[in-house]
Amino acid sequence: MLTKAPRGTKDVVPSEAYKWIYVEELFRKVCSLFGYEEVRTPIFEHTELFKRGVGETTDIVQKEMYSFEDNGGREITLKPEGTAPAVRAFIENKLYADAQPTKLYYITPCFRYERPQAGRLRQFHQFGIEVFGSNAPSVDAEVMALAIEFFKRVGLESLELRINSIGCPSCRKEYNNILREYLRNKVDTLCNTCKDRYERNPMRILDCKNPVCNEETVDAPLLINHICTECKDHFEKVRKHLEGMNIKYEIDPKIVRGLDYYNKTAFEIISKDIGAQSTVCGGGRYDGLVEQLGGPSTPGVGFGMGIERLLLTLENNNINIPKKEGLDIFVVTIGEKAEEYSFKIISQLRQNDISCDKDHIGRSVKAQFKYSDKVNARFTVVIGDDEIEKDTVQLKDMSTSNQYEIKLSELLKELKERL
Ligand code: ATP
Ligand code: MG
Repeated sequence: MLTKAPRGTKDVVPSEAYKWIYVEELFRKVCSLFGYEEVRTPIFEHTELFKRGVGETTDIVQKEMYSFEDNGGREITLKPEGTAPAVRAFIENKLYADAQPTKLYYITPCFRYERPQAGRLRQFHQFGIEVFGSNAPSVDAEVMALAIEFFKRVGLESLELRINSIGCPSCRKEYNNILREYLRNKVDTLCNTCKDRYERNPMRILDCKNPVCNEETVDAPLLINHICTECKDHFEKVRKHLEGMNIKYEIDPKIVRGLDYYNKTAFEIISKDIGAQSTVCGGGRYDGLVEQLGGPSTPGVGFGMGIERLLLTLENNNINIPKKEGLDIFVVTIGEKAEEYSFKIISQLRQNDISCDKDHIGRSVKAQFKYSDKVNARFTVVIGDDEIEKDTVQLKDMSTSNQYEIKLSELLKELKERL
């Protein structure tokens, strides 16, 4: 028990961490190229924020939240997603008072009580972006373009972008009636969750993963064919912008978000080679959410991207992330005086941005050389007691095994030339 992490969580050990660092740095870089700035919000929020912000009828709120009462009697939830906290921060910090739009990104852990499997964890991590304050179709296209640019730079060109329009509350109301009519004779065969959805939010039945529900909705009327002129026009413009940027997409009328405050554009980016959990990135527009959470009426659009699924996709596509190189220098010491003196050397090198280390567990000289190899040092510096007096050290180039005698007092200068 004590030596096992909780189910659905994972350590990132150093042999994996370099991949995380790489994708995080790349994500930050792409975000800043697009003019987005980072926002960091707490790991936990008031439970009410997610009930309202994600929606009472969603799986997340109904079954997946890590909620508890804190010692002060507050209802608290570990964040299951990043949008509601970003909206809360936007309102609380009055970011709407700045010049708009507000373009934010975040890198965050998320917590959902789900059945763990490949690409599905209980603590997972997301890259996300949110744009507040513009309902222009160009912003929807930009949000997708940012994700695509990131995937391109990480080496993934084979992902599929699927887009849809889920209309606005008014066109959806009419459509829900049409859909209910279509499903009237099929309700009994649907899964229990969908039976419940039939009255409350029938659109989400199209999104059900149960094969029976899938079967029953194959020929269902599609919202995209029933959206109002304004929504249609917005969608056409989003498509034009994507085409203008040469971004390939498919229209997938079955993508739904299914909450009143989500509207117009919905999209997913799919990887076909990571099995069942194939959605690497999902996003869309939510023009009603800021107001729903107590802020001034402000349009919004964004996405969330699963980092574990991204790394899985990279692995399945045999895309290697460049590994950080080893140390510049490893210092091998022969004798006690040399050992003491070596601390002076390594601290001087480190202060000059040369990465270096020495033995810390009393290895023999032979074992120190072996260890220097293991940590992938580019050069080994060998110092002995006598050599300190004579102001000399041996410098060994580990890739060629060439060895040079140089002046100890000129070590830094020599290394700067060779590294
Ligand atoms: P799914 O349909 O796979 O359950 P979702 O619709 O619940 O996804 P979102 O809430 O849109 O997902 O989250 C955005 C992204 O976060 C997903 O596309 C996915 O890459 C990732 N994600 C969601 N849930 C998990 C999880 N439990 N473990 C790992 N990654 C996840
Ligand atoms: Mg889910």
